[in-house]
Amino acid sequence: MTWEERWHPLREEWVIVAAHRQDRPWNGQTVRPQAAEIPSYVADCYLCPGNTRISGKQNDQYSTTFVFDNDHPCVGEDAPLDLATAQGLYRNRPARGIARVVCYSPRHNLSLAELDVSEIENLLRVWQEQYLDLGSREGIRHVLIFENNGEAVGVSNPHPHCQIYATNFVFKTIETESRVGERHLEETGRVLFQDILAAERDDGRRIICENDSAIAFIPYFARYAYEVFLAPKQTHPSVATLTDPELHDFAETLKCLLVRLDNLWRMPFPYVMALHQAPTDGQPQRGFHFHIELHPPLRRPNLLKYLAGPEVGGGNFLSDTAPEEKAAELRVQSELHYKEQTHLSESKGESRRTA
Ligand SMILES: [Zn+2]
Ligand SMILES: [Zn+2]
Repeated sequence: MTWEERWHPLREEWVIVAAHRQDRPWNGQTVRPQAAEIPSYVADCYLCPGNTRISGKQNDQYSTTFVFDNDHPCVGEDAPLDLATAQGLYRNRPARGIARVVCYSPRHNLSLAELDVSEIENLLRVWQEQYLDLGSREGIRHVLIFENNGEAVGVSNPHPHCQIYATNFVFKTIETESRVGERHLEETGRVLFQDILAAERDDGRRIICENDSAIAFIPYFARYAYEVFLAPKQTHPSVATLTDPELHDFAETLKCLLVRLDNLWRMPFPYVMALHQAPTDGQPQRGFHFHIELHPPLRRPNLLKYLAGPEVGGGNFLSDTAPEEKAAELRVQSELHYKEQTHLSESKGESRRTA
């Protein structure tokens, strides 16, 4: 039984873990039906190669990844600079930036979990280029790279892609991580995230996969049932400074992690994935350790974690699962994607990837 509060050192807040509640009566558990076969090309998909988007622009006939400026950006270079003065204590400022879309693959039906390690490595290189390119621009203080994956987080188009918001402001979570990381470095001489990695490795129960230079784990202070952190073992402020071997290890660990999540319920596992990278605001950022955070909204198949009274009303997360148990569920999953397992049995041992 886990029934306690746990301190989230990166966000500086408490997480209430009440794992004794998980067996409480609950109606509505149904396993999601198998999705219909999705084709590899869809004529009206705005992300498929060669297709024309609503803006009238045409996608390249790309064969690996494809980056383009978002046609409907939330932050843009056209956002007004001349703002009406806010009343009283209220403040406002321009919401400027550059918003882009990165298609992972020309294949409409191939998720990030299903890409080969070398394809994921290639994607990591695109993220490196984008971070360096956008982050070096005048007025860009942060580059947020994120993927919303699955209908559970509001995405109906399965074509694998992520988004980039390069902005004139630093998103709040990153600002907090940067500030507490800097303070921890001043006070202890150590990188805060390295202390987290040390604690996770000392305990070991929450680690899901690991190789020479990368590690994935459900942190002690996870707010979501299957919240996973993925990080290089060496401190890098962003993805941009990872070496070739580190990129390979990172890609391999990301693949291993996503496959296990998909295998858990033999369905595409929905998530919000965000790269947490140092702001590009010219500050030293010596205490910032690049990592990916995955926030899957499901607690069970077809059961969403609703943000309700404690989270929305009170501002602290309440988790009714223990990170140790959830990590154990993922650790025992196969490293071979379930779709390939099916494929394997259908083709009597001949895998698409080894063929
Ligand atoms: Zn498509
Ligand atoms: Zn983070």
